[in-house]
Amino acid sequence: MQTSEIVIADDVAGEWRIPVLSFTGSDPNASKVYIQAALHAGELPGVAALHAFIPALRAAEGEGRLLGDVVIVPKCNPIGASQWLHGELQGRFEIASRANFNRDYPLIALEDRETLLDRIEASSAADQLKRRLLHLALGADLVLDLHCDDESQLYAYLEASFWPEAMDLAESFGLEAVLLSDGGSTAFEEAVTHAWKAGALGARGAWHDGRISLTMEFRGLRDVRPDLAASDAEGLMAFLQRRGVVSGEPVRRETFTGPVAGLDYVQMIDAPKAGTVLFERTFGDEVKAGDRLATIISTPASRRTTSPSTPPSTEPSSPASPPASSAAATI
Ligand SMILES: [Zn+2]
Repeated sequence: MQTSEIVIADDVAGEWRIPVLSFTGSDPNASKVYIQAALHAGELPGVAALHAFIPALRAAEGEGRLLGDVVIVPKCNPIGASQWLHGELQGRFEIASRANFNRDYPLIALEDRETLLDRIEASSAADQLKRRLLHLALGADLVLDLHCDDESQLYAYLEASFWPEAMDLAESFGLEAVLLSDGGSTAFEEAVTHAWKAGALGARGAWHDGRISLTMEFRGLRDVRPDLAASDAEGLMAFLQRRGVVSGEPVRRETFTGPVAGLDYVQMIDAPKAGTVLFERTFGDEVKAGDRLATIISTPASRRTTSPSTPPSTEPSSPASPPASSAAATI
């Protein structure tokens, strides 16, 4: 393992230094891997997973079992990690510009990779970060961006072209769901996919063969535990074994029975009233149209009335109907 640094000039003074770990495989034809964690700087389950995974990868490298090159940036956003405001970490958006650290990546073709570094010193610190990370990722075939949700099960988010080949990913990690996108955003993992599709590689029908770029959602913000980190590290190793990056039988293989759904099937529910939400379901529960999910207390201690359940709806983004005048609403 070799350690290097990404150096980013700060917008005001000084610089940011980001450790990059590089592992060298023995087979130049094996897939190359790029993994980063905590792009949204407060999302730490992926950092914990890499903390458990890196010693296993070092052992594989030392014992000659590592076939493909692997580059890891275990904690890739020091700008976000520095943004403590009134006792809370603000790791999702850059405070100075309100820019989301996982949006607005340059959409370029793979052949133009080196242009990401052209006059990079003239860019803002956040843009330098994005360009440097994307430049690293575009040297790989398998790109994993490790995030987490607020509260969540374990799921991955990837472009539909990578499914069902990515079943090996689901089985390696024991995913509970897979969400498929249409590749139309400027998020990190979709900028990688865009680069593959936009150039000469994309002109081939099977541009995605042997490649994957994905966002892993390692459950919720509070799911930072040694047992989960060890389990997710096993998942990483099993996936790299399944893709021929590390030799040997996969250390883990689970049966995947979770839902695989496009983003059209993700339903955001608008609250009909503001107030204190008492959830009556939790993530992972199966619900059907018309089920009551929560009660909203809009006026505490007032006479509580219960509105009917939300009307059955098949429209993905249909908001719940507001109840008749009442102090408590249900969604
Ligand atoms: Zn995130």
